[in-house]
Amino acid sequence: MDREKVIIKVSVQGIIFNVILVIFKAIVGLMANSIAIILDAVNNLSDALAQIITIVGTKLSAKEPDKEHPYGYGRIEYISSAIVAVLVLFAGVTALKESAVKTIHPEPAEYTVAALIIIAVAVVAKFLFGRYVKAQGVKVDSQALIATGTDSFMDSILSLSTLVAALISKFAGLSLEGILGVILSLFIIKAGIDILKETLGSIIGDRADGELTVALKKRIREMDGVNGAYDVILHDYGPSRSIGSVHIEVDANMTADEIHLITDRIMRDIYDEYGIVLTVGIYASNTDETTKEMRKNIWANLADYEHVIGSHAFFVDFDRKYISYDLVVSHKAPSFNAIAEEMKAKTEELYPDFKAVVNIDHDYSD
Ligand SMILES: [Zn+2]
Repeated sequence: MDREKVIIKVSVQGIIFNVILVIFKAIVGLMANSIAIILDAVNNLSDALAQIITIVGTKLSAKEPDKEHPYGYGRIEYISSAIVAVLVLFAGVTALKESAVKTIHPEPAEYTVAALIIIAVAVVAKFLFGRYVKAQGVKVDSQALIATGTDSFMDSILSLSTLVAALISKFAGLSLEGILGVILSLFIIKAGIDILKETLGSIIGDRADGELTVALKKRIREMDGVNGAYDVILHDYGPSRSIGSVHIEVDANMTADEIHLITDRIMRDIYDEYGIVLTVGIYASNTDETTKEMRKNIWANLADYEHVIGSHAFFVDFDRKYISYDLVVSHKAPSFNAIAEEMKAKTEELYPDFKAVVNIDHDYSD
């Protein structure tokens, strides 16, 4: 089954499941005069709402790209996940407020055995359902489903605390609903913040997954005619929709048609294997001994710069008398320009007949 269908199926199941819980809990809560159980019902209602948002988000994000949004609508999913996270946060804050009031003014609640059994069944059901939703979310890489699953799990703990408090109040005459509620609402708030952080990270633009970028470079490096692969940049337009670029090193004396065959194969293979649209940039590398010697002498200076984490694309044009290379500089470096200027000066000092061009690459990926 494809991703969209799984998300919608699980969300519809969630809506039905939560609406049933809402009905049962509302009846039990009203009969027992328990604000904790009524709140729990409200919380389940907000879960059903979150699942409706997930369905709408998934439907909208599956829209085909058009002239105005040529990269598609995939990022809508991050926005719907953020809304779900805000709902979780809201539920947490509401629960905290009510529990705080309860701690200060405990109210006696009257639980019947039937009510306790219904709550117990709801706890187990919600726990199992949360696990199921989260597993499906991990399987199809849906932040919204993972968020919903995590939320259900937290909810089941919250309901469990209501149950424990109810048992204690029934058999020991001690009201603990309030304090337990405070502790658990703090957990719900934390879960909401965590989900929000993750989805906002995706919207702002996260560092590409290191394992993926390392694997991409390795795969490209192994292709015929490629001497090196660097500077992978990936832009994510929603789950499993990435566009990016890579720079490869090829022998300086290759012809355009030879290079064309290489870049064409890289673009096709990477698209087929990873579903990523990659643009390929070219570095010419000369492999003669003189160049190797120059590279060694010049790059020996790099040991002075703790923020330089890589160097590549060393090229010497002996006719036009210029040397160029790229330095990958960490984001911690106080000034990118200063490093480039100093290295340029050192290069020209070592080889006074040449003009040096030092390009700075930002540390976009591993
Ligand atoms: Zn580069």
